[in-house]
Amino acid sequence: MSEETRTIGYICPACGNAVIAQRTAFQLCAGDTVLPCPCGKSELRINQRGDVCEVKAPCPSCGREHRVKKHRAVFDTNILLERELLALCCPVSALGCCYIGTEGHVFRAMEQLEQAVDKLRMDGQTERRGTFLDDVVMEEVLAELKDIAARGGVKCGCGSMDYRVKVRYSSVDLVCARCGAALRLPAATQDDLAALCARDSLTIPGRKD
Ligand SMILES: [Zn+2]
Ligand SMILES: [Zn+2]
Ligand SMILES: [Zn+2]
Repeated sequence: MSEETRTIGYICPACGNAVIAQRTAFQLCAGDTVLPCPCGKSELRINQRGDVCEVKAPCPSCGREHRVKKHRAVFDTNILLERELLALCCPVSALGCCYIGTEGHVFRAMEQLEQAVDKLRMDGQTERRGTFLDDVVMEEVLAELKDIAARGGVKCGCGSMDYRVKVRYSSVDLVCARCGAALRLPAATQDDLAALCARDSLTIPGRKD
């Protein structure tokens, strides 16, 4: 039994790295196992408590910790020695968060999990793309713009006081209703907001002719 090697893998939710380690079945049965991520922000634990074995794994999809409890006799013989792959899954995303098994099976499962988690992250970014680069900055830029407009501070070089506001992903355009000239105000960072707050008035660069 001591020669039987098991591979254990999980993905750190903090840094996104795959953590894969090898332990002998004897080491896993003999006492608690802790596999920390090198970043120090997460760890996988396998605790042996009397008749119960508990696996606690950090989850890369929902960021929480998931636990599975097994009768120790079942865990030791069935999972450590016989099963090719134990997958602990996230109840929210249904993706895996920890794999224990033979090297080949765990590596393959980890590869698939890494792709799934990458896709999940990318989907998250696409969702955010629909709105603004920074929602808070955009909100405050628009509020400040309203203030400046309320005190008559927006005008065009052509002499018009009428304009349209076009809200973009990371900027706001003021477009003159008469001549079509535009002034672009960046709305991506706190610096952009501070620069706008420092201005009394805004002039769209249209020309008198
Ligand atoms: Zn980490
Ligand atoms: Zn989860
Ligand atoms: Zn104009």
